[in-house]
Amino acid sequence: MKTQTIIATVLCLAHSQSVLAATDQLVLEDATVGFKTPKHVAVVGAGSAGSSTAYFLRKYSQERGISLNITVYERDGHIGGRSTTVGVYGDEQNPVELGASIFVEVNHNLVDAAKEFNLSTSGIRELRSKGPVLGVWNGRDFVYIQSAGGSWWDTAKLFWKYGLAPLKTVNLMKATVGKFLKMYEEPYFPWKSLSQVAYDLGLTAATASTGEQFLEQNGIGKLFAQDIVQASTRVNYAQNLPLLHGLEAMVCMATDGAQAIDGGNWQIFSNMLSAAQATVHLNRTVSRLAKLNNNKYSISTKKQGSKTEALDQQIFDEVVLAGPLQYSDIDFDPKPRHLPDSIPYVQLHVTVFTSKHALSPRAFNLSSEKLVPQVVLTTLPPGEHHGSSPEGVGLPGFFSISLLRPSMDTREGRGELEYLYKVFSPAPLNDTFLANILGLAEKATIDKEDISWQYRKVWNSYPYEYPRVTFEELQLDEGLWYTAGIESFISTMETSSLMGKNIARLMVDGWES
Ligand SMILES: Cc1cc2nc3c(=O)[nH]c(=O)nc-3n(C[C@H](O)[C@H](O)[C@H](O)COP(=O)(O)OP(=O)(O)OC[C@H]3O[C@@H](n4cnc5c(N)ncnc54)[C@H](O)[C@@H]3O)c2cc1C
Repeated sequence: MKTQTIIATVLCLAHSQSVLAATDQLVLEDATVGFKTPKHVAVVGAGSAGSSTAYFLRKYSQERGISLNITVYERDGHIGGRSTTVGVYGDEQNPVELGASIFVEVNHNLVDAAKEFNLSTSGIRELRSKGPVLGVWNGRDFVYIQSAGGSWWDTAKLFWKYGLAPLKTVNLMKATVGKFLKMYEEPYFPWKSLSQVAYDLGLTAATASTGEQFLEQNGIGKLFAQDIVQASTRVNYAQNLPLLHGLEAMVCMATDGAQAIDGGNWQIFSNMLSAAQATVHLNRTVSRLAKLNNNKYSISTKKQGSKTEALDQQIFDEVVLAGPLQYSDIDFDPKPRHLPDSIPYVQLHVTVFTSKHALSPRAFNLSSEKLVPQVVLTTLPPGEHHGSSPEGVGLPGFFSISLLRPSMDTREGRGELEYLYKVFSPAPLNDTFLANILGLAEKATIDKEDISWQYRKVWNSYPYEYPRVTFEELQLDEGLWYTAGIESFISTMETSSLMGKNIARLMVDGWES
């Protein structure tokens, strides 16, 4: 028989978005019989990787009757890490994703979790019956336009312009994703080395080349690569095809069954942590990790933002670092046997805003009676090349502009129906840019009449996915694990979750042996 004690104490009132996410500290002790002394595990970070680690640790340990205490430390005031929302007009009932917004049908961990936790999902919505849903803009022209409903005429134009390249790309993507999916299954799962499993599955053939080379090696024409695949790598990773590796280029083309959790993807991770019966400390930064003589770890934490001495110190049998180490600010004593390399991350500017103005056809060299596509992706114009330079935004000046949905401004004295937009760019958007896309070029400054609400966030969003064939170790030292090495292989919510699951399984296997 299993007994559980549930003590819920209100721990944090911090981040406004987290009111539903996790204002409670949940201390749930698992008194599962089996091991006399429970294992004590600390997870640093409550994003996809950390929450999944905790969730699968609980699952695997319960299956084997191992008693376990899980403590999760999270620097932010909310669960989800880079999966987080902000309330439009400051209204938490009207959230919009600021970070990871989409997952797809082959993302087994996320799809299964959404089902298990009864979270409702929506696909990508077409907002208009008229006008194009998607266009690829190169700073001069739209090189590709897709109308609502994806007509046969769009398909015919696609084949006329690109020949068999679209079909070949779909086949290549399916073959590559098929290999990746084997990472979830025995005999590959659980894998002790990401480099080894990538090699065994033949995925290093894709990671060794740039996206441009990989497509060329597989007979896919340059025009399709430049117009369509690169538009996708730019919106997903802010990187051009001659920079990021072939595997990530293929991931960008795997869009079947694109979906999002209504109200925010973070709910998957919040539910995972509840199911894991983890003690979750929000607004708590892990500042120091010391390995003790008995091979246990002492973790020192402080309140987020505090410069003062450690708030708390606790001892754990094993520790999982579940976020990029270079942004974790943890002092190690002593340094672990293996310290992950610091790798460059894309600094992405995300701007969400509401406006009564539609996107201006003139800003996109369209005649005034035309409608601008609901989603504007970008690529480089002919003759503009940036090679593997990270400064590759080029003539368009932004990576994507998405008209997300209509939005009713119900704030006092208003009641106006507006558009909600999201822009990805390598630099902050200035008034000249905003005035231009909204057709207000004559205006020197943008005021509240034009943009009624806006929210800006700068992310260390994902690594520059340079070609490589080896990846970070999963185990940095005895009892010390690291999830974020998977980000230079594939950086998504699902892959972080898969890494968490894999590490959880390795840990529990290790306790049994
Ligand atoms: C703008 C944007 C759009 C994206 N779009 C998508 C998308 O559509 N689909 C998709 O699948 N992926 C997308 N991604 C990528 C995806 O968000 C990440 O790959 C994934 O969320 C990473 O999860 P993680 O748990 O590994 O890391 P994180 O989410 O970064 O979690 C790490 C956590 O650790 C915490 N932490 C770090 N150091 C400490 C410390 N010392 N003490 C305590 N806590 C600490 C951090 O606060 C953070 O919450 C996007 C990312 C961005 C930025």
